[in-house]
Amino acid sequence: MTKQFDFIVIGAGIAGASVAAHLAEQATVAIVEMEERPGYHTTGRSAAAYEPNYGPKPILAFARASGAFFNAPPSGFADAPLLTKRISLMLVPASQGDNAEMFLSDASSVEEILTNDIKKLWPILRDGYAKRGFVDHSTGDLDVDLIHRGYLKLFKARGGTLLLNAPAQTISRHGSLWRVQTPQSELTTKNIVNAAGAWGDHVAKLAGVKPVGLIPKRRSIGVIPIDGYADFMAWPFVVDAAETWYCKPQSGKMIVSSADETPVEPHDAYADDMAIATGIERLMEASTLEINRLEHSWGGLRTFSPDGSPAIGFDPHTEGFFWLVGQGGYGILSAPALSRTAAAMAMHKPLPEDVLEAGLNMADILPDRFYT
Ligand SMILES: Cc1cc2nc3c(=O)[nH]c(=O)nc-3n(C[C@H](O)[C@H](O)[C@H](O)COP(=O)(O)OP(=O)(O)OC[C@H]3O[C@@H](n4cnc5c(N)ncnc54)[C@H](O)[C@@H]3O)c2cc1C
Repeated sequence: MTKQFDFIVIGAGIAGASVAAHLAEQATVAIVEMEERPGYHTTGRSAAAYEPNYGPKPILAFARASGAFFNAPPSGFADAPLLTKRISLMLVPASQGDNAEMFLSDASSVEEILTNDIKKLWPILRDGYAKRGFVDHSTGDLDVDLIHRGYLKLFKARGGTLLLNAPAQTISRHGSLWRVQTPQSELTTKNIVNAAGAWGDHVAKLAGVKPVGLIPKRRSIGVIPIDGYADFMAWPFVVDAAETWYCKPQSGKMIVSSADETPVEPHDAYADDMAIATGIERLMEASTLEINRLEHSWGGLRTFSPDGSPAIGFDPHTEGFFWLVGQGGYGILSAPALSRTAAAMAMHKPLPEDVLEAGLNMADILPDRFYT
């Protein structure tokens, strides 16, 4: 039997789950997710950092407007904090002097600290590595699983239908309706929301819509044990100014990355061993750590539009096809405000004032910019 919905959201990662939860407040909504587990792809593989001074302009606006939600989610959304404070420390080696200025010009919560004081925050700093250091006090760790599950719970409580193991195999137009075929079901709708992450252009092609030119970029994360420092879980997120490596305590271990960004086709991503080795090498150059054991690793796809900002809004040429893709490396930290904005756009409602006040310029996110 064919079921009809006001919206069909393709993909149950953070983008699909969060927008669907908002849409379901006032509309009938189904999410189709090709995997058995929502969040299996990029959403389940992030570094879980909240960095409101990081990313392109629209992301800064979304991230800053999301802070209130992370700090005080609606009652019943989650039974533990979504955001735990962790400062970020940006180190500037002599070779990266020029990169340092961006921290001061862009950010209100960032301050320079004396190199002598860096070791008070990060006692493993290697002498002579950092010529300058900056701390950002507005950052923290996100509980991604809790946030994602919170949105799915809200979605279901509002009557939403979540179909797992349900890849959208064909998407066809019949009069004013879209028909989405999965192996087990046939659904129709006036509005498709394309929240398929790295597969966003693939889903567009299925629907006969011109792709925006998404580029999935692989990032690899290694997990190492830290011995001999009882309080290392309190250490900051540490990154160099040119973002060639970063590390962060997480779940009783340290994660480390060389911030690799290798363009790839959409797939079930895995870590690149060389990239992990490079990350570890750079961390050893910056610190006194002797790292000889990698506990495990993972890879994930950070998917970018051609100009690096997300594509959010109705396709300018195809009725009822809404883009919600290209969140790059910032899809969790921006999700609360980004999903509220996307839902308002999809329902032709006024845009959230707080997000506009945080500096969102609609021209920076509309997919129209890729078709001129
Ligand atoms: C290593 C790494 C570190 C990161 N660190 C951070 C961080 O610190 N902070 C932050 O905010 N962000 C971070 N990110 C980015 C963040 O994880 C992403 O921006 C976000 O998860 C993207 O969510 P999404 O829902 O768009 O994509 P996904 O989670 O990939 O969801 C898309 C879903 O669509 C489904 N799908 C695709 N095609 C179909 C189809 N035809 N039919 C049905 N379903 C389909 C997929 O199965 C998938 O579940 C990081 C990412 C990586 C890889």
